[in-house]
Amino acid sequence: MNNFLKRCLCAAAALCAACAPDTRETMVGLGTEAESLKGLSQIVEQFDSVPIEHGAEQDDGAEPQEEAVYTVKIESTALGTVRPNEIGHIMIIMFHGLDRNSASEPYMCTVAEFKNFLQRLYDEGFRTISLSDLINNNITTPAGYTPVVLTFDDGLATAFSLTTAEDRLVPVPDCAVDIMDRFAEEHPDFGRAATFFINGRIQTFQGEGTLAERMQYLLDNGYEIGNHTYSHARLLGASAAEIQSEMGRLDQLVRAAAPDFQMTAMAYPYGERPVLELRQYVLDGIYDGMEYHYKWALKEGQNGASAAPNRSNFDPLAVPRVRGTATAPTDLGWYFDYYSQHPGARYISDGNPNVIAIPESAVENLNLDSLGAKDLLVYEETSS
Ligand SMILES: [Zn+2]
Repeated sequence: MNNFLKRCLCAAAALCAACAPDTRETMVGLGTEAESLKGLSQIVEQFDSVPIEHGAEQDDGAEPQEEAVYTVKIESTALGTVRPNEIGHIMIIMFHGLDRNSASEPYMCTVAEFKNFLQRLYDEGFRTISLSDLINNNITTPAGYTPVVLTFDDGLATAFSLTTAEDRLVPVPDCAVDIMDRFAEEHPDFGRAATFFINGRIQTFQGEGTLAERMQYLLDNGYEIGNHTYSHARLLGASAAEIQSEMGRLDQLVRAAAPDFQMTAMAYPYGERPVLELRQYVLDGIYDGMEYHYKWALKEGQNGASAAPNRSNFDPLAVPRVRGTATAPTDLGWYFDYYSQHPGARYISDGNPNVIAIPESAVENLNLDSLGAKDLLVYEETSS
């Protein structure tokens, strides 16, 4: 048992053996859906609980919770086929449109490629979650599966546009939304979730229907909208006023078209981030008398897989994405091969969004302050 594990804390007092000695089974039960994890409560070898110093100041006005050290050792053989790793990679895949014209085009893919990517994600154990759920660390992915987030930038018609069929507005055949809708019908457990980062251009999702109708279709069918700045601006040299104008104008446009929806993420056009001292303005600012607030800012480019929110190096102002092509290392095609050779790198869900379950070998990468009210479960992997 390494020293770091000895310092693991349980933010929830319910898991402190001194406070609630009868909660031991609850702690390791991991939820009723996790069939193969049900036996965990019978194989806990060790449970320690001693008080430690608070790790971080609480600034939300909540009552300070009693924190305690706890250590759980679990035989890996009892985990069955599920070896939860809720600190592993989560891919946020970045698509643009589906009208790739050249094999060297790194930001587009074809309809056939997109369909193949969905099928391969499904076959290899990935299940979609919304970007909001990832941001809120509300990962409800079934036990043993890996969450994946799909994103589309620039509001291109090949990603989503509407046409009229039988007197109602429906997605144009073989736009990405149409393909995802049909895939979800055939594979309900894959889920249906994607985020569309849009600009204020009049050609956003160009097709039939008003902008409000286009957004409403997305929001009514499990999709989300994100802020990609009003004019697809280069933010590297932008002033504070320019950043707030770009973010605020688009924010107000979406609010006017979809008043009940709250955007939570932006994506940097061209991957250009403002200079460090102005960067926070992409998340928080005020424009024309109205404040805006976002939680994450996503990069655009050849970045690689994202860290899980509980990972110590996670930076909400520089969230990487995986390009939805197979043209280069760190693109989606490359990651399929990488994960087949390094399955331990993937986030594997325990099936319970309220428990963060990780192998002991991953503890050194855990950001304890990110756990909030979630429970932590650390298991020791054995070679048997
Ligand atoms: Zn863009």
